[in-house]
Amino acid sequence: MIIAIDGPSGAGKSTLGKMLAKKLGLLYLDTGAMYRAVAFAILEKGLDIKDHEAIIKTASESEIELSGEPESLHIFLNGRDISGEIRTNEVGQTASIVSTISEVRRILVKRQQELGQRGAGCVLDGRDIGTVVFPNADIKFYLDAKAEARARRRYEEDLQRGLDVTYEKTLEEINLRDKRDKTRADSPLSVASDAILVDTSELNTAEVFAKMLEIVEGKKSLIAT
Ligand code: C5P
Repeated sequence: MIIAIDGPSGAGKSTLGKMLAKKLGLLYLDTGAMYRAVAFAILEKGLDIKDHEAIIKTASESEIELSGEPESLHIFLNGRDISGEIRTNEVGQTASIVSTISEVRRILVKRQQELGQRGAGCVLDGRDIGTVVFPNADIKFYLDAKAEARARRRYEEDLQRGLDVTYEKTLEEINLRDKRDKTRADSPLSVASDAILVDTSELNTAEVFAKMLEIVEGKKSLIAT
């Protein structure tokens, strides 16, 4: 069973993806973390963001591993745990720039397809899962919410993590990343024609989870018959 969860940042994809994977006993793959790991490697090497050749080389040479249970997933770059370090705005923005490079996408998409097919099933969250990575996914969700609601959530998460942020700046950054992700030429963020759209603006996590689980259970019983 492959469950694709796409949508813009802050819509709740990773929280819900982890909850679903745990409940259903499936693997969980945070594909955004893979783009962030490449971005982190680039920032650490001090590469020029316009030097596509060096960026592609870095992406192909980076060993990115995701391990642990869904709710405590750790991201390793060449054997080093970078789970905390990739959760900054700078890494997120760089990831969204790097993810516009087609060759980088090809390298990561191939890895995502291999990892997703490893076990009995997988929940993947990202921007292009239902459209490119697993176009034949059993279930495709597209989680969305108003930019203000997403910025509010991201801002509160960042505050809890002790980051020096403001709501206004967070909203500005969300809008910038949305624009880049939706307008890039290769695999832009879009709603797959067969995706189930869930607007999370007015719902809490438990409500969205119940809704998604109901859809998955319905689909599972259809597959079983
Ligand atoms: O989901 P997250 O915010 O961690 O992703 C960081 C960035 O990586 C996104 O803004 C997007 O540009 C890129 N990304 C992507 N395709 C994916 C997952 C993430 O282009 N499947």
